[in-house]
Formats: sequence, structure tokens, C-alpha cells
Amino acid sequence: MKIDISDIIKTEGAFLQLDCSEKVDGIDQFEDISFDAPVTLKATLTNTGGLLKLDGILETHYKGKCSKCLKEVEADLKLKIRETIVNGEKFHEDIEAYTYEGKFVDLDRVIKDNIILSLPMRLLCRENCKGVCPVCGRDRNIEDCGCSQDDLNPKMEVLKKLLDN
Ligand SMILES: [Zn+2]
Ligand SMILES: [Zn+2]
Repeated sequence: MKIDISDIIKTEGAFLQLDCSEKVDGIDQFEDISFDAPVTLKATLTNTGGLLKLDGILETHYKGKCSKCLKEVEADLKLKIRETIVNGEKFHEDIEAYTYEGKFVDLDRVIKDNIILSLPMRLLCRENCKGVCPVCGRDRNIEDCGCSQDDLNPKMEVLKKLLDN
């Protein structure tokens, strides 16, 4: 998401009202989560003494698989975004900082970092998903297959018998 900042970069206190929707590339590789929907950014970008302050709301939609039962999960993501962007020509030593160059600021990295940080540690289709039975493969949210966890590893059975003798 590239923003033309030529109107505000020379005037302290000047700001831009951003309302853009765009597909941001490069977050697709994030584990099993895919972002087909565009990212919407509604924010204010203010020039405060040569620094740009970004303050607003970011929204998108993602798809993934439940980490327990592998069912498809879709979710909306809405988060507050608040970042400082420095002049890349002055602060090039600090590679961690978000920077603008000349009359443009590219917000892709800011957006990606904020999205990745706000994703859940693991996706679940529901809070108490019981997952798939490791023995018979049935969805335990739908039926209780009654498998015993002892069936899980036949090698353990052999070992148990050996120990019993
Ligand atoms: Zn699930
Ligand atoms: Zn089972």
C-alpha cells in the first residue's frame, strides 16, 4: 500500500485521511492461513516533526484450518494500528524502523507485521473443538467413536505384555 505524502511532508501537523482497500502480498506464506480478501485501512497519517504517525483501524478476512480437526475456518480480523514511520534517508542504520523515502511511504510491512502479531497462536473452529480421533479418524465433535486411547500405539501394547511377563 503506497501512499503519496507530498502534501504533508513539508508541513508540521499536516495530516492525511487514509481510506484504502488493497490486497497486500506476502502474508500468504504465513503457515496455513490465507488472505484472499483485501486489507482495508482507515487511518490518519500525521506529520509530527518529520515523523509520520499512523493511527487507525485495519480490517481483513482470512481462511485457515482448525489445528485440531482440520475443518476450514474463516475469520474477520479487525485491529488498531498505531505506528511511527521515520525518514529512511536519516535513519537508515535502524533497520527495524518503518521508513518513508522521499514523497512516498509504503505501508505493506507495517500492515503485515500488525496482522501477523494479532493472529491467534493456533486456529480453532470453536473454542472447545474435540478434534479428530487419532485412532479411527472420526470427527469427535460429531460423534463419540468410543475408541480407547490405549489403541493408539500398538507398540505400547507389546511393551506392556513384555513387562507383564
Ligand atoms: Zn475444529
Ligand atoms: Zn475413534
